[in-house]
Amino acid sequence: MARSRVRGKENTILAVFAHADDMEFVAAGTLLHLADRGFKLHTAIMTRGNCGSTHDAPAVIARIRRREATDSARLLGASFTCLEEDDLNIFYDKRTLGKVMELVRRVNPRLVLTHSPSDYMVDHETTSHLAQTACFGALAPNYKTGVRPAARPTGFIPHLYYAAPMGGRDILGSPVRSSLLVDTSDVFDRQMEMLACHKSQREWLLAHLGMDNYTEFLRRRSEEQGREAGVAFAEGFRQHLGGGFPSDDELTHILGERVIKNPGTQT
Ligand SMILES: [Zn+2]
Repeated sequence: MARSRVRGKENTILAVFAHADDMEFVAAGTLLHLADRGFKLHTAIMTRGNCGSTHDAPAVIARIRRREATDSARLLGASFTCLEEDDLNIFYDKRTLGKVMELVRRVNPRLVLTHSPSDYMVDHETTSHLAQTACFGALAPNYKTGVRPAARPTGFIPHLYYAAPMGGRDILGSPVRSSLLVDTSDVFDRQMEMLACHKSQREWLLAHLGMDNYTEFLRRRSEEQGREAGVAFAEGFRQHLGGGFPSDDELTHILGERVIKNPGTQT
């Protein structure tokens, strides 16, 4: 039997987040910097956004949210995938892991951004766990996803970074400190434009979470993290340093002085 050829590292970055507008809140500034440096970007969302409305039917709001996410990805210059799960129904199971694994194999990223493993809701945390295992397992030829046609296994485990939880706290209200803060000051206006693509969500977040101003939330969070970094606006990350994963800090290597190490956290 022929052995599969080992795939090389390409300049591709993958962002995997649960819902259509999550990436805009916690990672879009960093992705804009990476786009400006010539990296090829692929953004993926786990769900089709079927619960994101108090009045539109699931199929209607799903269509609207997909269009909004596509518009935002276009501003970033990224290709885009929706993995078609349902809101509040992202499960860590073989079927869903197979989808995320195929995504990682198809995109073959050198670096992956995803949710914090502890966040304010389970959809985010499950997405984080799925991304972690998909990054770890994508190079194992004996892991069969069952998807046809199947993408080739990757040749390496990508660098994995977890964005700060939405709101910066876990479910017990404890702050989750980022070890790296990316200065997003000079891309912040573009990040706001990306977020503004998600027009349907302003109304939903007001009704469901009492979030009165969609874009103000991003500004406030970016300012908060900016204060930690000593700059106007920032967004935070932690690197996955578990066994098997590369532990050199590729994000800092790429973005250089845009990255500020948070004192007292991991190096
Ligand atoms: Zn979300």
